Amino acid sequence: MEQPIIEIRHLQKHFGDLHVLHDIDFNVNKGEVVTIIGSSGSGKSTLLRCINLLEIPDGGEIKFDKQNILDTKMDLGKYRSKMLMVFQSFNLFNNLSVLQNCMIGQTKVLKRSKEEAKQRAMAALKQVGMEAFANADSTRLSGGQKQRVAIARALCMDPEVLLFDEPTSALDPEMVGDVLDVMKSLAKQGLTMVIVTHEMQFAKDVSDRVIFMDKGVIAEQGNPNELFEHPKQERTRQFLSRFA
Ligand code: ADP
Ligand code: MG
Repeated sequence: MEQPIIEIRHLQKHFGDLHVLHDIDFNVNKGEVVTIIGSSGSGKSTLLRCINLLEIPDGGEIKFDKQNILDTKMDLGKYRSKMLMVFQSFNLFNNLSVLQNCMIGQTKVLKRSKEEAKQRAMAALKQVGMEAFANADSTRLSGGQKQRVAIARALCMDPEVLLFDEPTSALDPEMVGDVLDVMKSLAKQGLTMVIVTHEMQFAKDVSDRVIFMDKGVIAEQGNPNELFEHPKQERTRQFLSRFA
């Protein structure tokens, strides 16, 4: 049985006169990996930011676990800890060590004890292959290492969904593979993920469903085989031809 964890209906977003999201409709089921592809400026980041309420939609509906998240009575802090975002630019706390980066959300938001937070952090760092760097100063890491720590930090919060906005776009090419491998292992474990990416081979390998966005609409969606091998829309074919 497909169990939707995120349900988006008729989502609209404008920035002034710019209509960035037009009537977006889709579900994300529990355990599903959904990738979002499309040209720069097509509204991918805005869509993720609306799901995470970093941007407030100006029309439509977003439900998380059946609850309308646009309801003003919702507990925003609690919601955000269930639905965490990993950014292109890592956003680590530079004045903290790797371990402290992974503990702070747990102690401050989830009110875990230091001991419990440390244990959870070490398990997450191990999962991303960064346990040997627990005491390192986070500013001294490479981009790929920073991104793996950012993923570990998110995992420590035991989120129900992880959102990724071009997690490898800021990395040197030789570091991209390590980060994608970590994400593949999370997908195998059944974590629900929504991933904006330009890594087409990765999207083919890891996705249950691929969404192609063009100019603020979902132009096409389908399983990776359908979308990459037999795209129905001319604009999908044109976009994909750039990666051939
Ligand atoms: P993508 O992630 O697909 O590259 P974005 O969602 O970042 O696209 O942007 C979609 C459109 O919205 C672009 O034209 C962008 O310039 C515009 N935009 C994004 N954020 C803002 C903002 N905060 N204010 C005004 N315009 C924005
Ligand atoms: Mg973007």
